Parts: sequence; structure tokens; C-alpha cells
Amino acid sequence: MSEAPCRHTGLEPPTIRGDFPILSKVLHGGVPLAYLDNAATTQRPRQVIQAIVETYEQHYANVHRGIHWLSDQTTDLYEQSREKVRALLNAPAPEQIIFTHGATASINLVARSWGDANVGRGDEILLTEMEHHSNLVPWRQLAERTGAIVRHVPVTDRGVLEMEAFDRLLSDRTRLVAVTAVSNVLGTINPIGEIIAKAHRAGACVLVDGAQSVPHLKTDVQAWNVDFLAFSGHKMMGPSGVGVLYGRRELLESMPPFLGGGSMIRRVTLDGFEPADLPAKFEAGTPPIVSAIGLGAALDYLDGVGLDAVTRHEQDLTRYAHEVLGELGDLRILGPPPEEKSAIVSFVFDGNRPHAHDIAQLLDRQGVAIRAGHHCAMPLHKRFRVNATARASFYLYNTREEIDLLARSLQQVRQVFRRRT
Ligand code: PLP
Repeated sequence: MSEAPCRHTGLEPPTIRGDFPILSKVLHGGVPLAYLDNAATTQRPRQVIQAIVETYEQHYANVHRGIHWLSDQTTDLYEQSREKVRALLNAPAPEQIIFTHGATASINLVARSWGDANVGRGDEILLTEMEHHSNLVPWRQLAERTGAIVRHVPVTDRGVLEMEAFDRLLSDRTRLVAVTAVSNVLGTINPIGEIIAKAHRAGACVLVDGAQSVPHLKTDVQAWNVDFLAFSGHKMMGPSGVGVLYGRRELLESMPPFLGGGSMIRRVTLDGFEPADLPAKFEAGTPPIVSAIGLGAALDYLDGVGLDAVTRHEQDLTRYAHEVLGELGDLRILGPPPEEKSAIVSFVFDGNRPHAHDIAQLLDRQGVAIRAGHHCAMPLHKRFRVNATARASFYLYNTREEIDLLARSLQQVRQVFRRRT
């Protein structure tokens, strides 16, 4: 059983939990919620909810449009959020931060804009077997449009990238390497610095899918020297509907706009248009104004807690989850040991029975919310010869007690299943 939660990590989940109204919710059947589905989406603290309400009540107008006072106020708040994202990523300038609708939209923007302009027949795009569908399908679509070839770095039985294969597959034909920083199924933290350095030596650009890393681990786009980075606000306590694309300035400046419409132009005639400067060039139409402001509030909250403390707390929880789930014996955790991964623990029972969906349903009766299925990573599941896994994923408000409850509930799942069969 757990001791007092994570005193040594410098983070106080009981205090933090008080900021998240939904975490004190009592579910059907009178059980409290143990929310362990953070890789899908996280919960929001009161401070973020208040920022959203306050914006609608006090500061709401369209941005970069009005001459009036209210629009100026909203624009200031929106741009302050961009600056907060810049600081989070240590990006050189706020113009290199593009607000999108999420990681998926950010990756599609690069595939359509940079991809269509820079990738041709016979060029190669190097992905990995552990990518989320959001970092597979846009490149497959690009290949279908252009005749490019998509290759994939295999994943080892331990659940890490086969780096010798990466070295073999990378060549002067590779135009782009697109790779996730953290696997949303295995939790594996990939060697992004090494991948970027090697890709650049081969003359390729690199897009990093940061959907599962930016909320949990320190990100420094200048230290990485990355070309593009994509992530979503809703996986880091921000509202849904807002995401970010960071890009290297020369690349963003040379890329054609993706969506056309209001805001992204400097001038329009009936015969043509001249695009606006960064970042407006890639923010056509009314952007996710309040969501972006809410994301700024989420970043303030994260900053207040301290990202390093969050990382340490999650490492503690991940180690603990491996330990207590490992004691169940007939349960297999996919992916590397806890010290090589982020806050994601996906598992199957031996023989894949009970099925992940049954596990999730039975856990739900105890108030334990986990994800079951392929987690938008079908090729990775195929590689591990399972069609579904159960996934518990943690964030700053989770506790060892919740992991104890997960383990106890899994024991019950096993007993129920044994009785049934
Ligand atoms: N990439 C990874 C690794 C993810 O885990 C996810 C979502 O789960 C995405 C991309 C897509 O994020 P969104 O659905 O917010 O666009």
C-alpha cells in the first residue's frame, strides 16, 4: 500500500486536487472518480474555468479586427497566451507560435502547406511504428497526393525505437522525419535530440508530435533544434479546440498559407491576395479565442506548480504503477521500464482475456476511468499482436491511492472473469 502521496517529489496532490471541481465528483453507484485517462484528455482547474468565464463575461470580442476597446482587450489576452506558449517552449519569437485547433490540425497544416510545397515523387517521409494516427494519416495522404514513399522505423519488443533501423532508413532521399516525443500507448520517451541531429545531417526536416510530451516534460525547441512541434491544449489542462504549431521561422515564412480567409491576408483583390506576416498567415478566420486564453491560464497554473515537480510526481506514480500492477502476475505491461517512459501504463492480461473493453467497463463500476482500445495507434497494436490494450495515464493531481484502487479493481476484474468462464 502507498505511503503519504509523493512527499519527496515536492508536489501536493491533495492541495492540487482541491482546484479541480470534477475530481470531487461522486459517480453513479456512489463511488468517487479516479480519473486515470489523462493521455486522452486532462481535467481543468478552477483557475482555467474562471479565466474562460471571465473572458466571456468581461473581455470578449473578436481579435485583431476591432478598433474598439473591447477588441483590443481580447487581442491583448490572446497575444499574452501566445507569449506564454513561447516561454514554455523557449521559442525564439511569438510569431513562431501558431494557434490551431489541436495537434491533429497542426500536423495537417504542415503536411498540406510544407508537404505539398517540398515533397515530390520518390521523396521519402520517415515515420515510426509507434505513431498516433494523427502523425500517420496526414503523411499517407501527402504520399498519395505526391507519389512520395512513406517508411517506418520499427519498434522493438521492449517498446523502444530500433535506432539501427532508423540509421539505415534515413538517407538523402528523406525529406521529413515525423516522430512522437512520447508514445501515447507505450509511454516510451524517444531520443528526440539524437533523431533531430541525425535527420539534419541527412538534410531532412523534423516534425515532433509533442501531444504526450509537452504537458509532462520540459520542452526546449532551441536546444532540440526542431523544425516543427505540434501539441494540444486539452491534454495540459487547457480547453479543447486549441492547439499549437511551433515552426522554425525560415520554414514558416517560406510556406504557403494552408487555409484561406479573413485575417491571413495583407491585401485581397478580385484577382488574388497577398498573405499576412506570421503568425496571422496561418490563422485564417476567427481563431479559438477563448480556448487560447484558457490555455494561457493553464500554463500559468502549470508554472505555479512547476513542470519539474510534475515530471517527478508522474515518474513516482509510473514507477509505483509498474510495481503494483506487476504484482498481479498475469498482467503484461507494454513498453519499457518506468525510468524510460512518461506517465502512461498500457497493459493486457495474459491471453488477452479479459478483453480491454471488459476491463474498462468493470473498472468504471469502481469509479476508475481508464481508456481501452487501440488508442488511435492501430499499427502499433498490430505490431504487438493485440487488438486492444487497457491504458492508465496520470497527471499532476493523481495519487498513489488511485493506483492502489486500480490494482484492487483489476484483481476483482480477474475474479469476476474467472467466475464467468
Ligand atoms: N498525437 C498523439 C501522440 C496523441 O496522443 C494525440 C491524442 O491522443 C494526438 C496526436 C492528437 O491530438 P488531438 O486529438 O488533440 O488533435
